[in-house]
Amino acid sequence: MNILSHLLSQPAQNNRQTRQRRGIEIKSPHEIDIMRQSAKIVATVLKEISELVKSGMTTADLDAHAERRIREMGATPSFKGYHGFPASICSSINNEVVHGIPSKKKVIRTGDVLKVDTGAYYQGFHGDSCITIAVGEVNPEAARLIRVAEEALFKGIVQVKAGNYLIDIAGAIEDHVKANGFTVVEDFTGHGVGRNLHEEPSVFNFRTREMPNVKLRAGMTLAIEPILNAGSKYTRTLSDRWTAVTVDNSLSAQFEHTVLVTETGYEILTDRTKL
Ligand code: MG
Ligand code: MG
Repeated sequence: MNILSHLLSQPAQNNRQTRQRRGIEIKSPHEIDIMRQSAKIVATVLKEISELVKSGMTTADLDAHAERRIREMGATPSFKGYHGFPASICSSINNEVVHGIPSKKKVIRTGDVLKVDTGAYYQGFHGDSCITIAVGEVNPEAARLIRVAEEALFKGIVQVKAGNYLIDIAGAIEDHVKANGFTVVEDFTGHGVGRNLHEEPSVFNFRTREMPNVKLRAGMTLAIEPILNAGSKYTRTLSDRWTAVTVDNSLSAQFEHTVLVTETGYEILTDRTKL
């Protein structure tokens, strides 16, 4: 388990401290409208990054693009300064799981499994999303990990509907990951998102008694963000106090969307396919 208290993905220990259900905000139609816009900014930035990334660039190049575009669209980067995080994106490569710090020294190479996570704060509300990019040609197992990670996110999302429970999301993700022979990272969870980057409830990616028995209601906005490892589910944090890596150096992949709960199902607010 990571001992950090300042993470951009919610550390799982915190869930134990905040097990009691409290303060899950139901957003008003007006607030949802604003969240659609903040989420669209996030989706735009991630789509652009997925199109421009190539071997030889540095993760600092991607961060600079993200910050410039977020500000051009009238928002501010949610991550920059969040508990001291120094950048607008988290860029985590290969065995890095989450919270990689962009750097001019970190050169992206063909074959890399690159996670880019970002958030935008617009008119009082955050959007939050993460993609995993296969840089050029990646090996078949890496490609499969990335595909299953994205599938796992959507297996979770299709469980989103007023009247369903958080455990329906968690179970669907866990089952899909296990069926494909990968592991779910348990050290980090998804979360409510809105006025705060991280708010109630914690959205687990696996079944656990730690999870509050929350029934989904229309107007909740959730960041669902499964993290899959090719090997061990365990992570450790590097001496930079941010970057989490797999303990066995196996590959890791993650996808995240900000999702609105509706009466009949869901709306993916950070959908990149509708831009
Ligand atoms: Mg998140
Ligand atoms: Mg995120």
